[in-house]
Amino acid sequence: MRVSRIEGSNLILGAARTLNDLRDALGAVQSKSKSFEALVNHIGKIASNHVRNQASIAGNLVMARENGFLSDLAPIMQGAGATLSVLDNSTGKIKSVSVETFLSDSSEFQSGDLIVDVRIPMLSGNVVFRTYRSAVRPRNCHAILNSSMMIETEADGKIKSSRIVFNGVMEPDAKGSRPVRAVQTEAFLKGKSLRDAGTIASATSKLCDEIGGMLKGTAKSVSSYEGKCGDFVSVRLALVRGFFTKFAVACNADKATAEFRSASRDLVVDRGSVESKQEFPQNDADARSAVYVI
Ligand SMILES: Cc1cc2nc3c(=O)[nH]c(=O)nc-3n(C[C@H](O)[C@H](O)[C@H](O)COP(=O)(O)OP(=O)(O)OC[C@H]3O[C@@H](n4cnc5c(N)ncnc54)[C@H](O)[C@@H]3O)c2cc1C
Repeated sequence: MRVSRIEGSNLILGAARTLNDLRDALGAVQSKSKSFEALVNHIGKIASNHVRNQASIAGNLVMARENGFLSDLAPIMQGAGATLSVLDNSTGKIKSVSVETFLSDSSEFQSGDLIVDVRIPMLSGNVVFRTYRSAVRPRNCHAILNSSMMIETEADGKIKSSRIVFNGVMEPDAKGSRPVRAVQTEAFLKGKSLRDAGTIASATSKLCDEIGGMLKGTAKSVSSYEGKCGDFVSVRLALVRGFFTKFAVACNADKATAEFRSASRDLVVDRGSVESKQEFPQNDADARSAVYVI
């Protein structure tokens, strides 16, 4: 439950490991996978350091599955193609379940089952993987919407496979809510190139239609959100468009001009932590003069 090792092309972490353990383990072998740097940066935005030192990988994923918790870990593990080893309570055997299936298929995880470890594949070759998150505050604040996107291209730049995952589209904290996958947009992208401006424009509008349809269904059950941070659908759709634009720019990093390239920057990471300093007088005399300044 607390292992940490590389086996074949997977980084394996015991399910009882904390989010900070996961971040450190990914960071230590960051150069081995196209996805690890983005995962490291995203996990660093979850809650706060002391929460990440306590929260376990399995605890986070189970809350996402059982309570519809708007987890950050679930969509990024799904997008990265991670799998879980689950000890099946009824058979006593360990089975391998993808994070995507774990989150969506009720038969794959029953009461009494135990998650033993998470296996994160090391992605190589022509792969671009990024994650995105928007919240009212950059840290220590649940996401409004988060996402992970991955494309794998052939040598000629044509897309072989993709995974586009969003969390926050279904009703937050409602049983059955989970990250959604933009399967229609993924199908549209197959065989095309994100280096083509026309494809980017068509894919963006397809993605907005696809996720927009899901959001409209959700909006009916979350009317209390209206007015708090704008219209439920339009706020999230603006984020969907923004995240995908950033991803398209990241896929074209080498040919985008400096002006456009800045769109793919992770401002939360680049900005670093917020620091403040307060100095106190060292002795009584200084303290008195500091207090009784005339
Ligand atoms: C202030 C605060 C802010 C937060 N912000 C965020 C955020 O922005 N993004 C985010 O993703 N998360 C956030 N979280 C959630 C946090 O990351 C943890 O996921 C969450 O608190 C669960 O904690 P835990 O690991 O102790 O789980 P627990 O409470 O221990 O477990 C949760 C559930 O999982 C079950 N479980 C645990 N381990 C296993 C296992 N191995 N097999 C099967 N079932 C298991 C438990 O039985 C329980 O039902 C936040 C939490 C706090 C307190």
